[in-house]
Amino acid sequence: MATTTKKPHVLVVPFPQSGHMLPHLDLTHQILLRGATVTVLVTPKSSSYLDPLRSLHSPEHFKTLILPFPSHPCIPSGVETLQQLPLQALPHMFEALSRLHDPLVDFLRRQPPSDLPDAILGSSFLSPWINKVADAFSLKSICFLPINAHSISTMWGQEDRGFFDELETATTESYGLVVNTFYELEPHFVESVKTRFMTHHRVWTVGPLLAVKAGVDRGGKSSIPPEKVSGWLDSCPEDNSVVYIGFGSQIRLTAEQTAALAAALEKSGVRFIWAVREAAKKINDGGDNSGEEDVIPAGFEERVKEKGIVIRGWAPQTMILEHRAVGSYLTHLGWGSVLEGMVGGVLLLAWPMQADHFYNKTLLVDNLRAAVRVGENKDSVPDSDELARVLAESMKEDLPERVTLMKLRERGMEAIEEGGSSYNNLDELVAEMCV
Ligand code: UDP
Repeated sequence: MATTTKKPHVLVVPFPQSGHMLPHLDLTHQILLRGATVTVLVTPKSSSYLDPLRSLHSPEHFKTLILPFPSHPCIPSGVETLQQLPLQALPHMFEALSRLHDPLVDFLRRQPPSDLPDAILGSSFLSPWINKVADAFSLKSICFLPINAHSISTMWGQEDRGFFDELETATTESYGLVVNTFYELEPHFVESVKTRFMTHHRVWTVGPLLAVKAGVDRGGKSSIPPEKVSGWLDSCPEDNSVVYIGFGSQIRLTAEQTAALAAALEKSGVRFIWAVREAAKKINDGGDNSGEEDVIPAGFEERVKEKGIVIRGWAPQTMILEHRAVGSYLTHLGWGSVLEGMVGGVLLLAWPMQADHFYNKTLLVDNLRAAVRVGENKDSVPDSDELARVLAESMKEDLPERVTLMKLRERGMEAIEEGGSSYNNLDELVAEMCV
């Protein structure tokens, strides 16, 4: 733990989407465990994300600041998280959230100086306006990014990334950067982020951030009683005999993709849990996102009811991935899900869809050989015979990718143990916040 006696007060400002919010709150938990006082800024509909932290930490140390979600003409009223919308809504979300600048400044102005935070630990996605707030009150602005160093250095190395350029510049101009990865996984890329982009050494790798354990609801109420899922998994006689299929909080499949996947599951005969998303809401900008819905083929669930469970809506993902019966995970390679799969010790079957998923594919499949590629991209439809074969084979214990992943898992778990690289970085981060 940090040697300094003074403990910081940290204002945490997460980006409202599960892939960002959940690891940011897992990080917040680690900072609280190190004695910091934390205030988390959320809008009303994201407040329930904080319930696990509320239940674990005292109100003296864990405080919330709830500000109204700034209305935006393209965002339907009542929607406050990106995952309810198609990804095209991202720029609208940035714009809406940047309007939290003034209410946050007003709030901080009303605080007695002794109650002002020492640092803001904000999402890198919000850094353009968070840096301004931090400057106005002479606070340190430290950014959090829930992706790995390989993705960061690949993306930041590209020319003209449109509206992302502003976020990246603001992140590089901030006081420091926290990344949910571990040094031993990708030392060269961590060094590259430090020397090529941040131009200082305040880059803290703190992963794999473990999911805050407080009940089973993580990021939302499970849409199926978690006991039903755990009971079914407990009844599976063999370890590593179930495949979990889930594409994170944002991705919806087309009807052709769900049909191919359903056919592959039926042909493979494997036991499975399949988490399917609710339809996205329409954005009010004239665009059409009517295809943004997972449609399970008629009769499928009835035919496979002995073999699997389809979860419509929010799934208790980490509980599933950590169950002994689950052996492989057909994933979009969202970085949060990758780390959860690694912690759960499951074979990753990679179907990268968009954004950083492709860089994660390069890192995990091509460079580290720790995952098996099964899908191309967001538009591709897998061949159901081939996918059935891979699903059935994915239960094998001695697959080289499984063996490699388990070795990486071991390094990751060492990194977060006392004395490990991520553990030490968390200590340093907390100490640095109040220097
Ligand atoms: N998640 C969950 N239940 C679901 C879908 C997602 O708990 O039904 C969680 C998952 O465990 C992970 C996060 O949401 O912590 C998704 O993050 P990730 O980086 O994998 O992907 P994204 O949602 O950003 O694509």
